[in-house]
Formats: sequence, structure tokens, C-alpha cells
Amino acid sequence: MKEELIAPCGMNCAICVAYFGYRMDGGRRKTACSGCRIKNKDCAFVKKQCELLSKHQIEYCFECDHFPCEQLKKLDKRYRIRFNMSSIENLENIRDNGVRKFLKQQRTRYRCPECGGTICVHTNRCYSCS
Ligand SMILES: [Zn+2]
Repeated sequence: MKEELIAPCGMNCAICVAYFGYRMDGGRRKTACSGCRIKNKDCAFVKKQCELLSKHQIEYCFECDHFPCEQLKKLDKRYRIRFNMSSIENLENIRDNGVRKFLKQQRTRYRCPECGGTICVHTNRCYSCS
């Protein structure tokens, strides 16, 4: 897991189904996603509506005066309910403890007990062994 895979919204792209090269329905994507920050496309959830992010004036959403904004709160709520993950919590964690500590926690939290690979937050699957 790498720092460059942490999106501005607090999402860890290393645990995203698209990063593994799969879709939610179990099928394979044509290409695996390289991660929000690396792709540098307008993020589907937040960046599109945020001038600071689209102009690269902030690196993470917590640097913004409006953190957490309505857009981020919506995303956060969806992820908390569907995927047991909070972007806002992730961001506060990164802000307060640093990104390296956060990555370490993520490695532990999403580590596959069978093979040591990474469990996908969206599907709860390990694409290395199952
Ligand atoms: Zn595994």
C-alpha cells in the first residue's frame, strides 16, 4: 500500500474493486484502475464539484475550510452503510497521525488471513487467493 494510492477524499485505492481490475458484479474490467490520484481524472464523487481539488490547491480534503463538505458527507455516509468504511474518519486519521501510520493500519485491517494479500473493501474478497 502506497501513499500515492490514498485519494484526496480519504479513499484507499489499494482496496478498491476497480484497482484489482474487477467490477462489483464479479466480472473483469478491461483495464485495472491505477488509482484516483495517479489517474488524475476528476473524481466521480468529490473532485468534480470541488474547485480546490480540481485545481490541485489541496492534497487532501481535510485541508479545506469546509471539511467535511456536503459532498464528502454524502460519500462518507454511503461508504459507511455499504462498505463499513468512513472517508471522513480516514482523513481525520491521516490529518492527526500522518499518512504512514494510516497505511500501516490499512495493511492490517485489509490483510487476507489466508494468503496475506489485500481484501477488497467493496466485495470483501481477496483477489490473490479466491
Ligand atoms: Zn488471500
